[in-house]
Amino acid sequence: MSQIAKTDSSFREGVNLMFDQAVKYLKLPKGICDYMKTCQSVYQVSFPVKIDGEYQVFHGWRAVHSEHRLPVKGGIRYAINVTQEEVEALAALMTYKCALVNVPFGGAKGGLCINPKKYTEDQLERITRRFATELIKKGYISPSLNVPAPDMGTGPREMAWIADTYRQHYPHDINAVACVTGKPVTQGGLPGRNEATGRGVQYGLREFFRYADDIKKTGLQGDLEGKRVIVQGLGNVGYHAAKFLSEEDGVKIIAIIDRDGAIIDDKGLNVEAVKAHITKTGGVSNFPGAKTLADGVSVLEADCDILIPAALENQITSQNAGRIRAKLVAEAANGPVTYEADAILRQRGITVIPDFYLNAGGVTVSYFEWIKNITHIRFGRMERRYDEAKGLSFVEALETLTDKSVPVKLRKEIFRGADELDLVRSGLDDTMREAYQEIRRVFERFPEVKDLRTAAFITAIEKISRSHMEMGI
Ligand code: NAD
Repeated sequence: MSQIAKTDSSFREGVNLMFDQAVKYLKLPKGICDYMKTCQSVYQVSFPVKIDGEYQVFHGWRAVHSEHRLPVKGGIRYAINVTQEEVEALAALMTYKCALVNVPFGGAKGGLCINPKKYTEDQLERITRRFATELIKKGYISPSLNVPAPDMGTGPREMAWIADTYRQHYPHDINAVACVTGKPVTQGGLPGRNEATGRGVQYGLREFFRYADDIKKTGLQGDLEGKRVIVQGLGNVGYHAAKFLSEEDGVKIIAIIDRDGAIIDDKGLNVEAVKAHITKTGGVSNFPGAKTLADGVSVLEADCDILIPAALENQITSQNAGRIRAKLVAEAANGPVTYEADAILRQRGITVIPDFYLNAGGVTVSYFEWIKNITHIRFGRMERRYDEAKGLSFVEALETLTDKSVPVKLRKEIFRGADELDLVRSGLDDTMREAYQEIRRVFERFPEVKDLRTAAFITAIEKISRSHMEMGI
């Protein structure tokens, strides 16, 4: 989709090459390896929608990479340059991502060639419903087989339209609402889903900074506090990651790059204010108090501690990898570093936290949403008040035994039962921590492996191949 240097592999090739780089450490039959890399099916659709009296034809895809677990899971992207190759690459990453973070889904992805900014809400609804119908007809949207979610250019609004379209086709399906995740909370969604990918980036970075060995390799010191961060893309993922990291972990966002250029402020940018500026003006340029640079991509090369590409693929290529000055690249977007650039960064001692680990927060919370939908009950509904009553009894027992009263603030904390958002965040934090620890264990088993991406691939490939072989092919 984005411009890529001629010397670099395509996104799809790059994902396969990264897979090959990892699989060589495992003794697996070649046929299984070939099968694991291949997309099992891709459905291409073309359909007309009447826009302002004219028929416009739209083209889209839904790729299913692996059905070793069902349903398959992956977002739907709305972008003008989306291609089948790109959707296949993203579907493959979904398979590896789900396996890595122990989400029991296969991998899929969808894409529609469209610039959503060019259409009214009403037109977008008709286009989305028609696209959904085409996919539903062939089983490419279904609560038990294939469950989309938001990606670039789509959000809760589109997911609500898709869920409603499915329900109209299958009114007797009691699990209809589970056909898609990332819905508005009022439509069967889950509090914390919209922010989940950015939140997962925050939890993943926090986990990274818990390991002295890993920090040492970057040349950085201490924790996240005061780290100078550059973010590319202030959309769903980039905005939430930048907001949480700056407001809760004390990082300084020294530059934000978006479509129209970059803004730089060494004192640190206020993410909420930048977001409001984008909403008002349509871009980051001319944000008051910051320096604007029209050549946004060049800011990827600026001096900083952590670079967070959170926009799109192929941003760091063999052309600019040699000039990247960040000590740590935290891949919030899918595929922002090409295969060739990855090798250059590794050789230069720049640590990369790989995409299919770091942005797994979205699919993790999607999994929670899907479970809520098929169980038809909100998380914590049965136990919240019970937990509160137990907490209160504990406080009372403590006060009786010690003859002292527990301070009011502490008392409230002890007996407050967790609400749904608390549970979602707890589940996400646990998932991100566990997955990182699994990746690190690869370094003990394979001392020759030095980078997180190869280790993450090894973890995922081992699980997927085991599943294929145990099931029988
Ligand atoms: P989004 O559409 O909400 O935001 C994308 C942002 O990138 C926007 O601010 C856009 O203006 C900016 N952008 C687009 N082209 C750019 C360019 N050439 N240069 C600089 N900025 C540019 O998308 P999103 O959902 O935040 O997704 C971003 C990335 O994260 C994608 O790679 C996506 O696949 C990945 N991702 C998203 C989710 C999710 O839950 N939304 C989950 C996992 C991974």
